[in-house]
Amino acid sequence: MRLFALFGDPVSHSLSPRLHNSAIINLGLRAAYVRHLLKNGDNILQEFNKLGLSGANVTIPHKEAAAARADVASEFVSLVGAANTLVKRGEKIYAYNTDAPGFLKSIMGFGEIKKVLVLGAGGTALALAHALRLHGASVSVLNRGKDRLKRFSNDFQTFSHENFTPYGFDLVLNTTSAGLKDELLPAPADILAPTLKASKFAFDVIYGKKTPFLALASTLGLAHKDGLEMLLHQAVLAFNIFYENIFNESKIFSAMSLAPLK
Ligand code: NDP
Repeated sequence: MRLFALFGDPVSHSLSPRLHNSAIINLGLRAAYVRHLLKNGDNILQEFNKLGLSGANVTIPHKEAAAARADVASEFVSLVGAANTLVKRGEKIYAYNTDAPGFLKSIMGFGEIKKVLVLGAGGTALALAHALRLHGASVSVLNRGKDRLKRFSNDFQTFSHENFTPYGFDLVLNTTSAGLKDELLPAPADILAPTLKASKFAFDVIYGKKTPFLALASTLGLAHKDGLEMLLHQAVLAFNIFYENIFNESKIFSAMSLAPLK
């Protein structure tokens, strides 16, 4: 019997347990996936071991702690410093990032994306900005605070709200948690509206609600997408890592897609 958990704060909003438990049931496996509210990310490995887990996912705000604390980090996790998947092999805990490939799969329908504006500078922004860069896109990062932006300044053009002049992008990507538990835009409307107006696509990593960001994009006539498909893809990839990549991804995708998501 394998036990998996989702670590985060908050964790109540996440659909990950439904997706993973749906895959476990529909693939006939002996396992369970639970939520675990974790206040202090520094304790993530102790909690992992205390619960006797085989694997875990990590959500807001502990992705960076997971990357820093894991015994072994994948090459991509070492590059970006953010992990959403932990798995135990022997006595060691390995860290992976499936948000980035999950996101890239979910924007494939947008066609060629060359110029991107990433809103936010947290763990998800790090992973997605680097994934887009490695994929050949030119990426700018815009964040409310200046502190977290520093980690982007070597590889990206960075802006705070005060020094950004709106212009057009192929994709404007919200990776902030603005709109998750509130009705806030990720940047002031006088910056965001002209930027979106001059851009092609909008994507919000938040799922399960129409955020003010996506509502604005929709009002301005942009093609847009929320984070549900990304969630499904990252979950499929994480699940396969938990099971040593023995499953066909489309089989897991179908098993997870049977989960009630409302
Ligand atoms: P972090 O806590 O690491 O980063 C949060 C970011 O949001 C920071 O840049 C912060 O700015 C910014 N922010 C928070 N509140 C506001 C606000 N009111 N206005 C403007 N900026 C704000 O979070 P993560 O990167 O881990 O997660 C971010 C979001 O991505 C969450 O909503 C999470 O649920 C979602 N997510 C969805 C996935 C999916 O599969 N669909 C996968 C991964 C994440 P500052 O630096 O100024 O504080």
